[in-house]
Formats: sequence, structure tokens, C-alpha cells
Amino acid sequence: MSDSTLFMQRGARHISLPQIGQKGQQLISDATVLIVGMGGLGCAAASYLNSSGIGRMIIADFDSIDASNLSRQILFGPDDIGKSKIMIAKKRLNEINPINNIEALSLKINQQELEALQLNNKVIILDCSDNFNTRFEINKYCVRYGHYLVSGSAIRFEGHYSVFGNDYKLQPCYECLYKAEDESLEDCQGSGVLGPIPGVIGAMMATETIKIICNIHRKNTHLNIFEGISNEWRQINIKKNNTCSICN
Ligand SMILES: [Zn+2]
Repeated sequence: MSDSTLFMQRGARHISLPQIGQKGQQLISDATVLIVGMGGLGCAAASYLNSSGIGRMIIADFDSIDASNLSRQILFGPDDIGKSKIMIAKKRLNEINPINNIEALSLKINQQELEALQLNNKVIILDCSDNFNTRFEINKYCVRYGHYLVSGSAIRFEGHYSVFGNDYKLQPCYECLYKAEDESLEDCQGSGVLGPIPGVIGAMMATETIKIICNIHRKNTHLNIFEGISNEWRQINIKKNNTCSICN
């Protein structure tokens, strides 16, 4: 099957949606996303964005694959243990959708690394990292350049996600919600996480990203909380913090 036929057929169920249509699928195909972190969230979000036909995906992680990752990092298998996450992720994603342009960056994200990427102003950044330091670096960059930031986290049976941006003069940023001093960082290693929870949140992050691309997203900034034991979703309105040094 030719690439153009495959492109049309892959997008057929999107094109059937009146909110997306042919125009939206073309926007998806023209879009660029940067996914920071190829853990449980990143594997899920990247899988859905890749299969949805995102034209250019940049994936960043500096870690290698550990056996304890396999319960939730669904792009990896036992033969991949010890190998680079981004190299294996790129290979798997390419097998599933050979048309997409996937760039793999083996690095720990900071301002200089982000600047060096010279991303265009339409890029959407998905924060699938697992530490506040990286999260603050990404947020600062998104505020400076007015990029949308789709942020997620998962621990135990609970998951969170939010969409920030892209008018930070009026809208809150990630640091309006969290401060550096909040960092008593709980991680999956110390606290545990049920494998599918990052999958739920990663899929929601991919959904929000596609909605932004197709301009059908809601403009309010919320913290969306999924509680896996009770199977409840809660939504908390995030207000702009007028003392936030990043977005004011
Ligand atoms: Zn702020």
C-alpha cells in the first residue's frame, strides 16, 4: 500500500469525526510534538500520537530499560533490558507507523538543551518526566515561548493531567500550581504504581494534544485527577498565581 493511501486509511475514523475531518487529520499530520520522558506515560502518549499520524515526534529520555519498567512501559520487552529507552521506543514506533518522522534525543532536558532544539512556535510539549526539576525546566521554556504544555503524572492508583497555555499572560503555568519547595518527590520506585494508571493518563495526554492541534480543546486550565480505586475523576480549577515568578 502506498504511503498516501495508508495515510488516508489510517486517518479514516478521525476523518469521520465532524470535529476533525480531513482538515484536522492534515493538521495532525503537520504537527510537531516533543515528548519528554519515555516511561509509562511517555510510552502510552507516544503510542497513541504515533498511531494517530502525528507528523513529527521528538522523544527525549536518558535512561535505559530495567526489568521493573515492563509492567507499564508498553513499548519495551525482556529482550530490551539494559538498552536505551528512546532507541527502542523509536524502533517500535517506526514499526507501527513507518511514515512518521521520529527523532530520539538521549539527554536530560534543561533550558540549554531545549533552546538547542530550535522548535517552531507550534510545537506542543508533553511532560512525561518523573521529577520536579525537569518539570520546572520544561514549564519555564513553555512560558517563555508560549508553547502548550500537556503535563501528566501517575503514582500508586492515582493519575493527574493538565493542559497549560498557551496565553500565559492570562493563564496559569505549572509553577502556579507547584513550587520547588513542594518537592518531597514520591516516585514509582519508592511508592509503586499500578501498570495501567500511566496508560490511562498517557492516553488522556495524547487526547488533549490532538484536541489542541485540531483547535477543539477547552481553554480553562484544570488539574484532572483520576482515582483508580474508586474509579472517580475530579477536576480542580487552576488559578493564575499573581506572585508566580515564571509567568508574571
Ligand atoms: Zn505561573
